[in-house]
Amino acid sequence: MKVKNMDKILVLNSGSTSVKFQLFNVDDNNFEVITKGLVDRIGLDGSKIIVKADNAHDFTMETPIKDHKDAIKVVLDYLLKKHLKNADELSAIGHRMGHGGEYFDKSVVIDKDVMEKIYDTVPLIPLHGPAFVHGLEAVTFLLPNKMQVATFDSAFHQSMKKSAYLYALPKEYYKNHRIRRYGFHGTSHNYIAHITEDILGYKGKVISCHLGGGASICAINNGKSVDTTMGYTPIAGIMMSTRPGDMDPFIPLHIMKTQNKTADEVNHMFNKQSGMFALSNGHLDMRDIIDSAQNGDKDCQFAIDAYVYNLVKTIGAYVAVLGGIDALVFTAGIGENSNLIRKKVCERLSYLGITLDDAKNNLFPAPLEITTDNSKVKVLVIPANEELMIARETYELIVENRQKEAIAI
Ligand code: ADP
Repeated sequence: MKVKNMDKILVLNSGSTSVKFQLFNVDDNNFEVITKGLVDRIGLDGSKIIVKADNAHDFTMETPIKDHKDAIKVVLDYLLKKHLKNADELSAIGHRMGHGGEYFDKSVVIDKDVMEKIYDTVPLIPLHGPAFVHGLEAVTFLLPNKMQVATFDSAFHQSMKKSAYLYALPKEYYKNHRIRRYGFHGTSHNYIAHITEDILGYKGKVISCHLGGGASICAINNGKSVDTTMGYTPIAGIMMSTRPGDMDPFIPLHIMKTQNKTADEVNHMFNKQSGMFALSNGHLDMRDIIDSAQNGDKDCQFAIDAYVYNLVKTIGAYVAVLGGIDALVFTAGIGENSNLIRKKVCERLSYLGITLDDAKNNLFPAPLEITTDNSKVKVLVIPANEELMIARETYELIVENRQKEAIAI
């Protein structure tokens, strides 16, 4: 049987009050974005769909959207009006899922058993888990027979060894309460592993720095995650925009006891009021922090020094874990856009034989490779593209399914 090679895949990323979407056309493994956008303010006043396909066709439409079902219906209506003849044209829908627990080490096709396991992981991610599930349920309701695929943020890190993922706590907390390092941003780090392999020509030892508002670093050996900075939750690891990263675990207990704070209040402080925001005295955006530092603001100068120190310390630890490094990769908002942070980090890693090519590092957007030809380690800047990774994984499962069906026939 001839395998069909044109597919349309819709990728959805459901948050608690938003759904991001991208429609891909796949032509023999070439992925092209047809359109993309966002449904925002779900369940709030002023809910709207924003389409950001290209400048000529961008639009925003306000419409009441009370839940994820409404949101995805608005997306489908738009797609059916502008980009699809009918829903049959969609080969599958790929969902970004937050947590796969220990059940999933790769993307999977949704069925009853998978759904039960997904429900079972929701308590592991109480803040964001319900939203991911609402997205899945909405599609199941609106397009009941459509193939759906789940791609999990934690799946890529399931290759970590026990020595990397087990916390030194009484055993019952792992056994009965599933407390361990899971790691997140896995779809992004997995994408980096693939693109880096294409550039190096081999898999190698790679350290991937996903530096956005949320941030994590991953040590990758031979295409597999060996260790990563986020832990049981995404609060752990390196300092982030509003999260402190790793610290003495006694601190929250002490604050709760002595300041009479509740667990929710401390949680809010660790998610929204810490990290660069706290050190820079109230700046949320790295661009503002850099500008203020350059204009002499001492808090912002210190925040940048501390941020870079944190990165250098972690990258050093991962070089030790990997026993060397072939490529250091920067991705996401700060990693892709800040030549200053990249330069400061790489300067402190010159002992590894990294020599940055300043002219390349200062180009905007940066080229893929920003080191000199004789640098012992390649430093790469790779734009994050989790949606493309989800589309690729979904496509692989579409092809696998077709092959199974062909064999069955
Ligand atoms: P998230 O999706 O986690 O919010 P992004 O990957 O979009 O994160 O990254 C957001 C961060 O990227 C913000 O802190 C923003 O300031 C930073 N950023 C974007 N452009 C630049 C730039 N030119 N220089 C420094 N930081 C930048």
